[in-house]
Amino acid sequence: MRYKTAVRVLVVEDEPALLHQLQRAVTEAGYAVDTASDGERADFAVRTESYDAVLLDLGLPRIDGLTLLRGWRAAGVAVPVLVLTARGSWHETVEGIDTGADDYVAKPFRIEEVLARLRGLIRRAAGRPQQLLHCGGVTLDPRQARVTRDGVPVKLTSHEFRVLSYLMHHRDRVVSQGELTEHIYAQDADRDSNTVEVFVARLRRKLGSSLIETVRGLGYRVGART
Ligand code: CA
Repeated sequence: MRYKTAVRVLVVEDEPALLHQLQRAVTEAGYAVDTASDGERADFAVRTESYDAVLLDLGLPRIDGLTLLRGWRAAGVAVPVLVLTARGSWHETVEGIDTGADDYVAKPFRIEEVLARLRGLIRRAAGRPQQLLHCGGVTLDPRQARVTRDGVPVKLTSHEFRVLSYLMHHRDRVVSQGELTEHIYAQDADRDSNTVEVFVARLRRKLGSSLIETVRGLGYRVGART
């Protein structure tokens, strides 16, 4: 089971040595850490997983940090973001804050400062109302990995939760079986797209048959009929 037990942090940095240093420090501070070394991976991670905070370098290959941040905020992704800026580039800092960064640290930084700011960010976010996803009578709490149907808690396996969470995060959009497989098995070596059907069938049994619609030949969709 991969229910969330730890505070999860995504570290986005393209310099390998720096990424490694941040990863180690944040892990040692007691957080569960994922890493991304380019903007595309970071975007995928943030849009498919639920993080308590993101450490975001701005100068990144593929998609730069400010573009990422703008996209997340436009999509309603409220994850707290600590931006790593180059020292002296005040315009980057200002733009980062304007774009929706919650705090920033200038490079080169002391790792203790990054950790202190990260702790502050997570503490402040914990006091904010949680972002719940609703569809029909089903409510999903991404931060607590909890699901209720008409107010009654429903037990899901971690794979079922990941399928449902992904579909609800992409409400009203058709999600292909391949995309779902990619998402739920991002960490696993063996993938079997047939199992997506099994998870969807179980979700329908637990949450009602009308929640997840099958769009023939294309995939699944949540929200269109509710
Ligand atoms: Ca960089």
